[in-house]
Amino acid sequence: MNAFRATLVVLLVASSAAHAVAPVAVAAPDVRAKPWATETNARVASIGGRLLAANGPYPCVCSFRFEVVEGAAAFAYSLGDGSIVLSRAMVAAAESDHELAAVVAHEIAHVALRHSKRRDDFLLQQARWPSADGAALFKALLWQIERKADALGVRILANAEYDPMALARSLRTLATPMHPTEARELIARADLAEAIASAIRSMGGAF
Ligand SMILES: [Zn+2]
Repeated sequence: MNAFRATLVVLLVASSAAHAVAPVAVAAPDVRAKPWATETNARVASIGGRLLAANGPYPCVCSFRFEVVEGAAAFAYSLGDGSIVLSRAMVAAAESDHELAAVVAHEIAHVALRHSKRRDDFLLQQARWPSADGAALFKALLWQIERKADALGVRILANAEYDPMALARSLRTLATPMHPTEARELIARADLAEAIASAIRSMGGAF
């Protein structure tokens, strides 16, 4: 394992049959890890565990694994195998556990909705049967995927009794210093996240 990669990993499995989520393995911390790595990773894994435990049934049989990696830039991404990776700068940029949970919930939603497979399937199809408007279609697909991850992410947050409005705040934070060129899209997504969050609140949620 890369020395810069955090080493405390929590693996959680969501079973569609039982609709139960239970921690199945917790790796021992690596003593060679930087102190920040173990501490930060434990924080992210604990937030991820709370989100998964509270959400009930997922639209997939998914396993999740949380990891924090070294990185001066703030980023977060998820992979088809359920890995959810945040940079150390991303963790530092979140002003509260609610905002950090929002980023993790958004990535959990990507995994649960099998978005990496949809993206890969599209690219495979375009490689076989290229279309003139392939780039525009791909952009539209990515936009749709992000909106869906925000919509499910807000619900995951609310179910775990994190502030669902935190997703809108996280997106706005990301819009200014980190993704200036995507600011308009991020603000539009923040508006959507806020609308969903206030709808959940008006139904008598925890927030
Ligand atoms: Zn996303």
